[in-house]
Amino acid sequence: KLYNQLQDLKGSIRVYCRVRPFLDGQPKCLSSVDQIEEGSISIITPSKYGKEGRKSFNFNKVFGPSATQEEVFSDTQPLIRSVLDGYNVCIFAYGQTGSGKTYTMTGPKELTEEGLGVNYRALSDLFHLSEQRRTPFTMKFLVEIRNSSQKGINVPDANLVPVSSTSDVIYLMNLGLKNRVVSATALNDRSSRSHSCVTVHVQGRDLTSGAVIRGSLHLVDLAGSERVDKSEVTGAGLKEAQHINKSLSALGDVIASLAQKNSHVPYRNSKLTQLLQDSLGGQAKTLMFVHISPEPEALGETISTLKFAERVS
Ligand code: ADP
Ligand code: MG
Repeated sequence: KLYNQLQDLKGSIRVYCRVRPFLDGQPKCLSSVDQIEEGSISIITPSKYGKEGRKSFNFNKVFGPSATQEEVFSDTQPLIRSVLDGYNVCIFAYGQTGSGKTYTMTGPKELTEEGLGVNYRALSDLFHLSEQRRTPFTMKFLVEIRNSSQKGINVPDANLVPVSSTSDVIYLMNLGLKNRVVSATALNDRSSRSHSCVTVHVQGRDLTSGAVIRGSLHLVDLAGSERVDKSEVTGAGLKEAQHINKSLSALGDVIASLAQKNSHVPYRNSKLTQLLQDSLGGQAKTLMFVHISPEPEALGETISTLKFAERVS
């Protein structure tokens, strides 16, 4: 049992890598991805990135371009299930704009049943599971975040809406009530320029002990991680880009220090990490999906994405 607990602790941060297929089906050029194995990916690099012209990175799991939404979810499911055992679970989608973050979390623009992303599958799983358990669970959907305290971000009860089915949640998401976590400088509503988060709080009772079980699930589609060329954007756009890059690196710092089991975890450095403070670290479970575009033009961003991922795993 102790061994299992240790394994559990060790596995509290997982990093999965997903490689997007070429968009029009047939690659017009050679992919920058050389080889994909269950737990590693190697990419072809121009000589400036390494002598051999190949660099490989290890992950808990790597999904190639032909992986289906169902396959991706089946490796995520155990984590979702632990929400009903009282865990706080955070799932992040990281990567440059166009690498497939929204595809993984929500699905393709023309949504079909098999295209459904992690968000929908996770929520319907939670509802089905809670029906199977004899003790009723209540679920609430977070609709708005106010930066109301110095210490962290408080979520007043008034901002939690009771939900009783996946369709309730989909309805709320379609109303645009996904939280735009970073919007301080969001003058325009391009979704690639803000983090978007779906949060569900779950409460129930342990059948044997009668103790209250509280768990939560945060599903976060992060803003695009690309570095912005200062010569291309100015004024508010530049400020916004810098704000986003700062919050992504603050998230990286938090997860890296959790992975290294540091005693000080720098939650206070961004609004995003303040919001998730109670859900990152401690008894929480974190899964980061890092997304890779296969095109050689994306190689610079691909390498910085893989380096980010290496740091947090
Ligand atoms: P991001 O959210 O990272 O900016 P998107 O999820 O919008 O990227 O993906 C960009 C485009 O690639 C979209 O048209 C999307 O449908 C498509 N796409 C992404 N991932 C996949 C995939 N695994 N299989 C098929 N198409 C994908
Ligand atoms: Mg997107």
